[in-house]
Amino acid sequence: MTTTLVLGAGVIGTTTAYFLASTGRKVNVVERLPAPAMETSFANAGEIAPGHAYTWASPRAPKILMKSLFQDGQALRLKLRAFGDPALLTWGMQFLANCTAERSHLNTSRKLVLCRYSQQQLHEITHKEGLDYDLLSKGLMYLYRDVPSFDRGTANMKILADGGLSLKVINPEQVVELEPALAGAREHIAGAIYCPSDESGDARLFTLALAERCKQRGVQFDFNCTVERIQHEGRKVTGVMTDKGLLTADEYVIALGCHAPLLARPLGYRLPVYPVKGYSVTFPTGEGFEPPDIGGVDENNLVAYARFGNRLRFTATAEFTGFDKQFTKKDFAHMQASGRELFPNGADYSKPDYWVGLRPMTPAGTPIIGKTHHQNLFLNTGHGHMGWTMSCGSARVLTDIMDGRTPEIDLTGMTLI
Ligand SMILES: Cc1cc2nc3c(=O)[nH]c(=O)nc-3n(C[C@H](O)[C@H](O)[C@H](O)COP(=O)(O)OP(=O)(O)OC[C@H]3O[C@@H](n4cnc5c(N)ncnc54)[C@H](O)[C@@H]3O)c2cc1C
Repeated sequence: MTTTLVLGAGVIGTTTAYFLASTGRKVNVVERLPAPAMETSFANAGEIAPGHAYTWASPRAPKILMKSLFQDGQALRLKLRAFGDPALLTWGMQFLANCTAERSHLNTSRKLVLCRYSQQQLHEITHKEGLDYDLLSKGLMYLYRDVPSFDRGTANMKILADGGLSLKVINPEQVVELEPALAGAREHIAGAIYCPSDESGDARLFTLALAERCKQRGVQFDFNCTVERIQHEGRKVTGVMTDKGLLTADEYVIALGCHAPLLARPLGYRLPVYPVKGYSVTFPTGEGFEPPDIGGVDENNLVAYARFGNRLRFTATAEFTGFDKQFTKKDFAHMQASGRELFPNGADYSKPDYWVGLRPMTPAGTPIIGKTHHQNLFLNTGHGHMGWTMSCGSARVLTDIMDGRTPEIDLTGMTLI
């Protein structure tokens, strides 16, 4: 029986373990934290959003980033001290190269294909395994507060519509009809793009539930176990040295999110994955509150929101500060103000639960999946701001590649070799 060691138990590592185990492999997962989904997959916005597959690298991005150097409260934040980080400088040059209209269009189209395929795979797993993760399948709404940005949004939407996604342009009355919790914010809304097939669900709950199903299929999780280096002889990986000793297998998968470049570098790989810090705040809801049933994005403030059972979460901000995960209450002020304006009675705003996470971003916005120059080493990383959406599809195509099958979708631009 083929043995496989998956490095990392985020949503990507866990879905990878699930698909690999279903092919009859003996799978082990090694994770430095005490449970699955404790790093970036912990408290993200939860949006399963092919309708938001746009890449960050776009013709408007450089201007927005430059503005953030001099103005506080921006959703995209570049700090002057970031210019001292060589990894960010290299990444930034590649990001800028992807900011042309042509590249942005191409990368978005590629991402959309993976996002849609991934959502199908997620549905299949959810149905087959009976997983409960506060899924809401009522669509997502992309809200615009003024006419010029609404016009830009509807013009952009063509890329996704050309890719086969059904999107509806709706006026403020239709917004409130679909989502009555937005009634109090009617005057702030110029219109919305509604994607009926988009969804929301708690990525952490999903990962925990899937990890349990993996265990039932014989997958072994080694928690509190940190990978220190990957050992190799020539073009073959021979083992993984951890703080608990050497682990060996026939095949190895790097699913370490934004830590992937650190462990791949000594093997000769410069993976273009940079940690981009994001913030989320979660509030309790319940009787007497009016949270939304349809999640979405406040496009002008770049704040995403979704309800998970009796919790309402807002997430925002893309900050380029390396692996720093510190925060202060002030960092959440912008998203809380936007959230409260949209849903004045959405939750108990006196009980915030703050969190930060590091998105494993590639310059193009597309992940890196598949083979490496080492015959038994594979990658599944770089899912950036959409790793929850792209998780099941990425794990499925990687498994196909490792089994020698042709994946069902075109992976051009998403592989290392
Ligand atoms: C604020 C925010 C909002 C987001 N919103 C959305 C959204 O709405 N929709 C969406 O699709 N995506 C969203 N994302 C993106 C999504 O959360 C990520 O793309 C996804 O979680 C990445 O998963 P991962 O498994 O690659 O990384 P991780 O979850 O970080 O998993 C990597 C694992 O590797 C482990 N690890 C690292 N180094 C070592 C080591 N040396 N040894 C052992 N283990 C190690 C880590 O502990 C971690 O558990 C959001 C992200 C943020 C930050």
